[in-house]
Amino acid sequence: MVESDRMEKLVSLCKRRGFVFQSSELYGGLGSVWDYGPLGVELKRNLKDRWWRAMVHGRDDIEGLDAGILMHPKVWEASGHVAGFTDPLVDCRQCKQRFRADDPRIEGGTPGGPESQCPGCGSRGSLTEPRLFNLMFKTFMGPVEEAASVVYLRPETAQGSYVNFLNVLQGSRQKVPFGVAQIGKAFRNEITPGNFIFRTREFEQMEMQFFVRPGTDEEWFEFWRAERMRWYEVLGIRPERRRFHEHGPRELAHYAKTAFDIQYEFPFGWEEVEGIHNRTDFDLSRHQQFSGKKLEYFDQERQERYVPYVVETSVGVDRLALVALVDAYGEEEVEGETRVVLRFHPSIAPIKAAVLPLVKKDGMPEIAHRIYDDLRGRLAAFYDDGGSIGRRYRRQDEAGTPFAITVDGQTKDDGTVTVRFRDTLAQERVDAGRLAAYLDERVAG
Ligand code: ATP
Repeated sequence: MVESDRMEKLVSLCKRRGFVFQSSELYGGLGSVWDYGPLGVELKRNLKDRWWRAMVHGRDDIEGLDAGILMHPKVWEASGHVAGFTDPLVDCRQCKQRFRADDPRIEGGTPGGPESQCPGCGSRGSLTEPRLFNLMFKTFMGPVEEAASVVYLRPETAQGSYVNFLNVLQGSRQKVPFGVAQIGKAFRNEITPGNFIFRTREFEQMEMQFFVRPGTDEEWFEFWRAERMRWYEVLGIRPERRRFHEHGPRELAHYAKTAFDIQYEFPFGWEEVEGIHNRTDFDLSRHQQFSGKKLEYFDQERQERYVPYVVETSVGVDRLALVALVDAYGEEEVEGETRVVLRFHPSIAPIKAAVLPLVKKDGMPEIAHRIYDDLRGRLAAFYDDGGSIGRRYRRQDEAGTPFAITVDGQTKDDGTVTVRFRDTLAQERVDAGRLAAYLDERVAG
């Protein structure tokens, strides 16, 4: 399959089956904002659940937090976002389109020069000199729209964890080293958004800030780098499509000492999915400086006072959902027909089990309904009795449902049902009374 076709097919499947819709499609759409439909919202919830379990519930040294999207504007001065969260952009005087100054499609030398060519309309010499454009969304707090009431929509969740460092420390009785984890929305006025849900203007992040004693940061960085890659392995993401990419000196963000990305090979190339950063004491020191309040830790054991260093892990939920979808997507020929299948790890599949009566008679729908009622209290189940059984199986394959439970003629006689496995197409007879435990075991992450 050609890679661009693969992306196109996936986008169309996502719309058709209710994973992802364009925002405000009714009105022609809103650029780079997406809505998650019934299956998409389940996929995202499952990814967030797995992350929370691995990062918060599974560890005794990380606490959860849910900070506001709006924060005091000084936060973003201290963090460096007001001055530095910018992309250099050029405008075309001819067609009025705007491009990133480093857009590889700009030919003819430096933008602003007489030979540089607009990638939109092809005019020569029409591009302006690069100008800096801040990526933060601005709005106003309170009834008056004036400079004094400007607030920003957060471009990352991390700052909420830094300004609450002491609150969490005191409230939880943790000791350094410990971490603060958050899942929440972030907003960036991206200039070159695109590739479906890969880069959007409104997205969700799962970020964890791990506070450590200076001098132990490199060791902790290596720990988290390995730990985070292991998580993708457990999720079943193909090893040949993921790798580390180390940031060279020119790529490093202003706050970072070392940074590694976990990259995935999307149909449009290798791209970042998650960043692991050694942010040093940059953030806490800046907040100390801008707030005039101490953000130090007193280490009882060592009898010393210091500003902790931070090792951060940061992944976008939407981007991860795209990884899950791309990684799961498959097409194969079965009995002269193309079978489209999403091979999600059962723990992230939107629907875990579909309950299907073989035919709509002989008491089969009633039994199937009872099984469905019993299952749905425990896991995401789906009942379907419309159309041929083959067609119903194919619909579940497209939704990524790992198990299809069929009630047939034998069920009434011996109380067993068939379990059909999405990936191998193998079938197994299972006692209906044992079904819930049987599925639980196979779905657990
Ligand atoms: P990129 O350059 O790829 O947009 P970044 O280096 O600016 O990403 P970070 O600031 O490190 O990204 O953000 C951490 C994570 O948040 C990214 O790895 C990505 O998964 C997610 N993320 C960042 N920006 C976006 C966006 N516009 N849309 C979707 N996810 C995003």
